[in-house]
Amino acid sequence: MLAVEEISLHPRGDLLCRAATHWRMSGSSATCFLCDAVSLHPAAHLFAWSGEAPKQAAVAGLCCDCWRGDDPTAIDEAAARVLQQVVPGGCFLDPRAVLP
Ligand SMILES: [Zn+2]
Repeated sequence: MLAVEEISLHPRGDLLCRAATHWRMSGSSATCFLCDAVSLHPAAHLFAWSGEAPKQAAVAGLCCDCWRGDDPTAIDEAAARVLQQVVPGGCFLDPRAVLP
């Protein structure tokens, strides 16, 4: 998960920026993965990709209210539910382990 201002700083920033742009263009289906509110301009994105040279990334958004809500347990649980939808049986990795 990356705050919006962190996306371009990530080593896969180009890929993740394209995914975030796709998110913003998706209209009313761009809902916060925690509260389900429409969130075209989320505070953070949750990304998932596979392989060492991914051409696409799955993306979900977390609205500003939930980002500021100071409930990291609720965010973690919701992120885990999203992950299971995208990658059944998947698990989160240490970010340092997946850097290019
Ligand atoms: Zn929310």
